Amino acid sequence: MDRRFSCTACGKCCYGLVPLTIDDALAHADKYPLVVIWTPVRQGGRSFRITADLGITIEIKKHKRAAVQIAPTAYIPPTLPCPELSEDGLCRIHDAKPQRCRTMPFSAYRDENDQEDLTLPRPGWECDTSDAAPVVYGDKSILDRNDFEIERKQLVRDAAILKPYAEWLLDSVPSLRPELQKIAMKPSGGRVVVGFSTLIPRLPKVDIYAFARKQLPVMKTFAERTVGDPGLVDFHQRYVDGRTEWEKVARPNSGTRAGSV
Ligand code: SF4
Ligand code: SF4
Repeated sequence: MDRRFSCTACGKCCYGLVPLTIDDALAHADKYPLVVIWTPVRQGGRSFRITADLGITIEIKKHKRAAVQIAPTAYIPPTLPCPELSEDGLCRIHDAKPQRCRTMPFSAYRDENDQEDLTLPRPGWECDTSDAAPVVYGDKSILDRNDFEIERKQLVRDAAILKPYAEWLLDSVPSLRPELQKIAMKPSGGRVVVGFSTLIPRLPKVDIYAFARKQLPVMKTFAERTVGDPGLVDFHQRYVDGRTEWEKVARPNSGTRAGSV
């Protein structure tokens, strides 16, 4: 079925998590509270193939595997706007916004034939899907593929870093694999949130001290914005942990290596 879609720039989708390429995460480290999110997808589940190609697979029970998406992510609660969303609903960094925002409504994290539901606006979104909007998806194919291809190429390139990082962290943190296996077996799914400091040492040419000085004020700001909100306890704790971690690294002559989960 053909799907029509046009963005009216209402800004309503600029809330919540934003998965990022590694380059986008580093470029916007002074804006977003960064984490790495691990999301298992059971064999036979949605977009299993591309998730396995871009991430890793783990055994969940005999002869069954789960693919695990490993995504650097702007860890913004679903009730809070992106810090770059202005009062009038427009993006303050339109020309430099992350590739994830450019590829909307499609997602290069998913198989191309598994995109149709993404063209259906969620409640409250003001996307134009009327007959006046252009057809953007038909025969399970994306018609204007430019941004999708750019994002997919970046994710493939990132996979060369994220796969060995993920295998290394699974070996280093014994509780991580069982946690992922447990989530993979749940009908409702779930995710594991890991500190971005675990990934930083695996990224070439990153000045960890400069990076810590960018993340520290962001974590502080988000910790302040979420304190006392009973619905955001997990988010708040992650910002507090991030603040503590980056404080240690950013301290002059600390000599501290980042890397706690
Ligand atoms: S960077 Fe811009 S387009 Fe992307 S979520 Fe933030 S405000 Fe929206
Ligand atoms: S909700 Fe739809 S119309 Fe509004 S900014 Fe997002 S994609 Fe555009």
